[in-house]
Amino acid sequence: MSAQDQVGRSHNQVGQGEPSLGEVSAVVDCAPNAQASQSPLLSNGKKLRAGVLGATGVVGQRLVQMLASHPWFDLTEVAASERSSGKTYAEAVRWQLDAPIPECVRNLAVKGLDPSLDCDFVLSALDSSVAGPAEEDFARAGYPVVSNSRNHRMDPDVPLLIPEVNSAHLDAIPAQQKNRSYDTGFIVTNPNCSAAGLVLVLKPLADAFGLEKIFVVTLQAISGAGYPGVASMDIHSNVVPFISGEEEKMEAEPQKLLGKWDGSRFVDAGIGLSAHCNRVPVVDGHLECVSVGLKKIASLHEVREALRNFEVDAELASLPTALRNPVVVLDEEDRPQPRRDVNAGSGMAAVVGRIRECPLLDVKLTLLSHNLVRGAAGAALLNAELLAARGFLKHRAAASQSSDKVLVRA
Ligand code: NAP
Repeated sequence: MSAQDQVGRSHNQVGQGEPSLGEVSAVVDCAPNAQASQSPLLSNGKKLRAGVLGATGVVGQRLVQMLASHPWFDLTEVAASERSSGKTYAEAVRWQLDAPIPECVRNLAVKGLDPSLDCDFVLSALDSSVAGPAEEDFARAGYPVVSNSRNHRMDPDVPLLIPEVNSAHLDAIPAQQKNRSYDTGFIVTNPNCSAAGLVLVLKPLADAFGLEKIFVVTLQAISGAGYPGVASMDIHSNVVPFISGEEEKMEAEPQKLLGKWDGSRFVDAGIGLSAHCNRVPVVDGHLECVSVGLKKIASLHEVREALRNFEVDAELASLPTALRNPVVVLDEEDRPQPRRDVNAGSGMAAVVGRIRECPLLDVKLTLLSHNLVRGAAGAALLNAELLAARGFLKHRAAASQSSDKVLVRA
């Protein structure tokens, strides 16, 4: 089978039993509310209402695009900075995607960060300079917060979630609510865009053979720095061997993701991990060259099969943004490549190639994942879907009533 066939197959696996999300760059029509009746989650025939904080940024735009056609969620609120609030979404956003702004979003009024939005939960794609306190404000006001930002990822009571890897970490939510005196609100985060692809690929290897040491060198796309991001004078015909804070995140987050929630705290996986992070002149898609030291001896064939056969359980397979096989293995010696493979599985797959022996550790490979989809918007959406499926997202009272409730509590 050719690599294209494998990638194409994965596209067909998006959202088992649900309509395909299609290519990430495809034109998006706003989904009618009638689709919600197909979802087992909704008793009153209505979708859960989603708000996006940081909706005008590059991650926010992906969220807006994916939500516009989402079968379970309805995008009802968009929020951003004072620069944008008061404008329509179309006026405020510097739209970066190939497909046009979804019609149902163009005229939504952009709000500020006051936690009184007319929605049941928020997805946060806020700049990290404001995300920390803003997300806490929303959680305190009763909103489930599904965040992309780094601020709360390593908090001792906040799940850092990749559903295919550590869905049991959601058990920490009641403890978080108790610790912080949150009522219906809470915070769940997704990992850094490079850690997302790496850990998805490490998970089947951890399960089959155990992990001892990881050495990883990243080649990260410029969209990972947001908009306008890296100055063109710095990145054109160049590689920048430094991304502030990135190596620290790459060395810390996999420990939490591959570790355990023991009922009262997260216990790290205890893997030796060293990361070098580089910015390269690619628009979308982070490539990572990884050497892995395994606890148990395995042949290259066994490693390849463990990755190829990695399959999610029925609960995850039923989520609209999930892939049944989230790791795609290519056999060509010169793949994966960002331009050719970044949209595999509608951007939700981690694509692996060049699996071979490593003279220093045991095995080495190259992986690619879409930093804005698997590493950001798609990751947050998948987290929200799992939260909905597990009953953590509920219909909230109208915003004015919930603000009253907050005032009374305060
Ligand atoms: P971005 O393009 O710079 O967008 C930032 C968003 O935050 C914009 O909507 C912006 O609104 C808003 N914002 C900035 N300052 C604000 C303020 N003072 N008050 C309210 N809103 C404010 O960044 P991005 O790349 O989308 O990243 C968003 C978050 O996701 C960051 O925390 C980032 O670390 C994280 N993340 C990014 C990626 C990626 O690949 N890019 C991957 C994973 C995680 P205005 O338009 O009104 O200024």
